[in-house]
Amino acid sequence: MADADDSVLFNVYRRADVEVVRGEGVRIWDDGGKRYLDFMGGVAVLALGHCHPALVEALSSQARTLWHASNLLRTPGARKVARRLVDATFADAVFFNSSGSEAVDLAIKLVRRYFNTRGDGPRWRVITMERGYHGRTLATIAAGGSAKLTDGFAPLVDGFDRVPFGDLAAVEAAIGPETGAILLEPILGDGGIVAAPPEYLRGLRQLADRHGLLLILDEVQTGLGRTGRLFAHEDAGIAPDILAMGKGIGAGYPLAGVLVTRAVADCLAPGSHGGTLAGAPLGMAVADAVLDIVLDDGFLSSVSAKGDALAARLKDMVRQHPAVFAEARGVGLMRGLKCRVDPWLMAGRLRDAGLLVAPAMDDVIRLVPPLVVSDAEIEEAAAILDRVAASMASV
Ligand code: PLP
Repeated sequence: MADADDSVLFNVYRRADVEVVRGEGVRIWDDGGKRYLDFMGGVAVLALGHCHPALVEALSSQARTLWHASNLLRTPGARKVARRLVDATFADAVFFNSSGSEAVDLAIKLVRRYFNTRGDGPRWRVITMERGYHGRTLATIAAGGSAKLTDGFAPLVDGFDRVPFGDLAAVEAAIGPETGAILLEPILGDGGIVAAPPEYLRGLRQLADRHGLLLILDEVQTGLGRTGRLFAHEDAGIAPDILAMGKGIGAGYPLAGVLVTRAVADCLAPGSHGGTLAGAPLGMAVADAVLDIVLDDGFLSSVSAKGDALAARLKDMVRQHPAVFAEARGVGLMRGLKCRVDPWLMAGRLRDAGLLVAPAMDDVIRLVPPLVVSDAEIEEAAAILDRVAASMASV
């Protein structure tokens, strides 16, 4: 229940009048004991669901052993997690931070440093996408593609040239002498669950190579198994120069990071970047436990299979309720339903019926359940969607 105490929080969310107090797996409970199926997942944060026993154990065991240490000392956890990520990806080095916004912010910072240290600058402008979302820091709101993020925050950080998502010719036309990088999400998340076709990503890689640009992928939402791959770009058979991760790597613990090639890593010198909580032991213990599960044989293919099952049920919804739903889209367990009704109204009705989903741009509701969701839970979510859509056909 909302009470007067809410006034002490900045009023920046369209928060529902629901106070959640407990979670387990794909379920979450409010203070009145009502149970919800959590297909919002944090949003898209809870890779392993609420209170996964392995994560709880990793965190509490680390808390008893070494709570924190300065980055002026070495710790084994950061080295281990970085090594695992490097071994599993294109990357040669990893920098950890605490939020996806910070990770993308560092990626943007690295563009300037990379070209400046090579004496190949100034090449600091970054091509970004309309409807892109990269976070809420001063640089990342300017990189994002929605006026909602920037209204009233001028003067904005300069250096971003926005083009329509999916239009390769527009990217090429936007490249100028000061362009240093192309930045995009492989699947627009907040932008409404729109997947970049593999040939588009390959085309961007070629353009970047031809013009000497860095390709930056924001995989904060798509990473860590969400699409059935460790990172979504793997489907296109390309590698970025810089990748921002977040959400799933901490699975609810505040952790994010940037994966880079050796050429990019080498542009930083000791003292040129850092962060108090970068790679701190508690987060590393959680990330290590997340990777134990996500990198386990069969985990990613199980995400693909469950993603296919969810996609099939969402397509059924569009067929059965054409007055309510316009389109089902997405990859793996990152799915969207484009609504013909207000997505906030739809999300509210679904919540009342016991299913949590997250509205996004383009009249979409996002279904991004924990990757451990079961087939039975997918069926249960579909049954709620079906029931609510039937009741809304006349709205
Ligand atoms: N980038 C993408 C693609 C995101 O989806 C988000 C968060 O939703 C962010 C960046 C920002 O991450 P955070 O909210 O952890 O700062």
